[in-house]
Amino acid sequence: MNQDLAEMPFEDELSPEDEASPETVPVPRSLVPHLSETAVLLDIDGTLLDLAPTPREVWVPPGLSKTLNRLLQRTGGALALVSGRSLNDIDLIFAPDQYPAVGGHGAEMRLDPDSDAVASHAPPMDKELKRRLAAIAKLSPGILLEDKGYSLALHYRLAPHAEKAIYEAISLIRADLPNAPIEVLPGKSVFEIKHSGFTKASGVRELMTREPFKGRRPFFIGDDVTDESVFAIMPDLDGLAFSVGRRAHGVAGHFDAPSDVREFLAHLLDDERDAPLP
Ligand SMILES: [Mg+2]
Repeated sequence: MNQDLAEMPFEDELSPEDEASPETVPVPRSLVPHLSETAVLLDIDGTLLDLAPTPREVWVPPGLSKTLNRLLQRTGGALALVSGRSLNDIDLIFAPDQYPAVGGHGAEMRLDPDSDAVASHAPPMDKELKRRLAAIAKLSPGILLEDKGYSLALHYRLAPHAEKAIYEAISLIRADLPNAPIEVLPGKSVFEIKHSGFTKASGVRELMTREPFKGRRPFFIGDDVTDESVFAIMPDLDGLAFSVGRRAHGVAGHFDAPSDVREFLAHLLDDERDAPLP
């Protein structure tokens, strides 16, 4: 997503017509092809896990690791977490379990859960640029700075009044550096600044060229603006996309909340028949 900051929508401007929240999980299991033919690709925050006041406070419900481990087995290793978090951070959250993953919005990739091998496609962010962006956190108490290595995130969940000020401060820095190869990703109570040139979608595209993902139908679930790049490439990969919390453009269905996603994934394992797509 190469989105100009000036065109960047705020969270509450995203598809307001899609806010309807039906009571039940609207995604039938029959939509998912047999797990032996499927690559299960899952965003983490706001999709598998409930959002927390700060990124460090997310909690992995005990049953989720069991579900993910069984899905990893049943898909022959073709389950991957697709996140803006670094692989290191992902491993800390799910410790002691490790999973194949696309991390850092496509900056990093690991195909085998037991491997340390990580493909990296991105240089770390420029230190001076990071320093300037980091200073934005001083605008207000409650703005939380997160250095993700390949990107820098400014969270304002605890300082919602500061959204506009943060936006303007980022705009000023970008105006100062018109040629810097960076882009700004708006998220849920967060602005994230990263190198341009890689996205979750580019990471997923590469993942799907590698064993054991190659030749399978991807099934992706995500909740946020950065997941829209993956929603958009699912037709090219003969895959299916589902959103969480709102019905995003181009998805086959949506879940109301991460708890519905977790329940759905657990039920996928109950159903040995795994009806193929029509
Ligand atoms: Mg998310």
